Amino acid sequence: MKTIGLIGGMSWESTATYYRYINEAVRNELGGLASAGVILNSLNFSSVVALQKADRWEDAGLLLGSAGAGLARAGADCVLICTNTMHLVADKVARMSGVPLIDIIDETAAVLAADHRKRPLLLATRYTMEHGFYSDQMASHGIDVVVPDAGDRLAVHEVIFNELCQGVIREESRALLHRIIAKSAASGADSVILGCTEIQLLIDANELALPGYDSTVIHADAAVRFALSGANGRAVIRAVEEVRQG
Ligand code: GLU
Repeated sequence: MKTIGLIGGMSWESTATYYRYINEAVRNELGGLASAGVILNSLNFSSVVALQKADRWEDAGLLLGSAGAGLARAGADCVLICTNTMHLVADKVARMSGVPLIDIIDETAAVLAADHRKRPLLLATRYTMEHGFYSDQMASHGIDVVVPDAGDRLAVHEVIFNELCQGVIREESRALLHRIIAKSAASGADSVILGCTEIQLLIDANELALPGYDSTVIHADAAVRFALSGANGRAVIRAVEEVRQG
């Protein structure tokens, strides 16, 4: 099995979901006591948010990139950025890490395309909904992402940062997201992307007015497929060699 490197903590509420989901998926696949090889670098989210708010994406890229490089040095065979928003700096992180970066946008696009979805509603942070990097990358897969109106975008953004990233689940916020989804269904969206890794803490992708796609689950699934493909990864080989050499 290969070792999965997670750049997490953004927020740790969703990183915990990744960790549980990846291990459950490996156990389901291999049975018994099998669990995933995972190396986690869980960042201090308040430092990342400060860089986001100051529009310091270059510095954010350096921070996450050096986290990725550290994971690779520690033996990770791939790197995941456990947030949609920070894929804004994915190119830099991939370059600095030097191991394959499993990209949440590409993986989500592949699942949507397989289901012939063309016009998904994107629920995410304002950075993800407004910056352009997400919709451009989706467009390169032939998918035309739609976003809520400005008022609803702000409301979703606030639910993410003021509630979900702080472990707060509110019924009113759940109802808000359902209202936004119903509105977009009426105006032609064919599906909905839970494009923030915490949104699945609030709504279930399988119980929506439109077919739902949970980016956290899709991303974690891709990591598990990678880990279980082919031969053992570097960390396992190194550990075995060390044991052999005494
Ligand atoms: N986890 C969230 C996402 O998937 C938001 C946190 C962040 O700003 O990175 O976008």
